Amino acid sequence: MRYIGLDIGGTTTKAGLINETGQLLESRKVPTATDDLSSFVSNLTAVVRDFQKSTRVDGVGVGVPGLRSSKTHIIETSPNIRCLNNVNLEGLVADQVHIRVVSENDANAGAYAEFLCGAGTGTRHMAYLTLGTGLGSGLILNGSLFIGASGYGGEFGHTTINPNGRVCSCGNRGCLETIVSGTGIVRTAQEKMKEAPGSRLHEVEGPLTSEIIYEVAVRGDETAQAVFVETGEYLGIACANLINLLNLEMIVIGGGVLASGDLLLRSTKYTAASRSFASSYRDCQIVQSKLWPDAGVIGAAMLARDR
Ligand SMILES: [Zn+2]
Repeated sequence: MRYIGLDIGGTTTKAGLINETGQLLESRKVPTATDDLSSFVSNLTAVVRDFQKSTRVDGVGVGVPGLRSSKTHIIETSPNIRCLNNVNLEGLVADQVHIRVVSENDANAGAYAEFLCGAGTGTRHMAYLTLGTGLGSGLILNGSLFIGASGYGGEFGHTTINPNGRVCSCGNRGCLETIVSGTGIVRTAQEKMKEAPGSRLHEVEGPLTSEIIYEVAVRGDETAQAVFVETGEYLGIACANLINLLNLEMIVIGGGVLASGDLLLRSTKYTAASRSFASSYRDCQIVQSKLWPDAGVIGAAMLARDR
């Protein structure tokens, strides 16, 4: 059996052909048409048909950045891909390719992949956090993907961590994602630079990114290092909250920002340990993703297999 996983990003959609056991056999990329639904759907169907030329495909899974209703299968809101708002994407794609199509929130799909065939294999209670432009998250509880009453569950990135904090893309203020994400890291750096005229961050040409800030940190700049320590503290608070609430066995952390590995994770683990019950922390590993950057593609395909 072969499945296609599609992971829709803000600029690029990743597509992968996956076998029965979750191995990625072949992958492709197509541009995401964020403003035009018919181009968006035709890009997806073209890549599915392309895979179908050489192999029999048994199902398609689509990971969507947004809230997807488990009752109506409609994407209720997708702030970064506006053409998907109020759309039944799986229905539109299935009409074109004539095979079964399922959709799910992209971070939920990533959590499912890490649980089935990544870092979380063998666990029954785990969380997956993915630090990219935003902070995606998904929960596995009692050995299955937890989506809540309507399919909108697991949005840990949009829990409030500072009532007077930064405005979030969701419209709320002070969401965890406004600090713990690529965007949050850049904003923290910009704030710290105002207090640190000697920081090498001022010498960066072009726009700041979390990757550039990390490079400056590795070269010894204390302001850039402080950005990652502080981001790690907030991520540690988030982990401690998850650990005390859910008594998890594992928190898997993935995403592009994790290229900044140790600096961030050391601070995360230190804070998580000091802010959770010692017995609960002892039973929970905090580890890096094994499947990034393919977790979303693999998880979507596995949901096509299992739903
Ligand atoms: Zn938010």
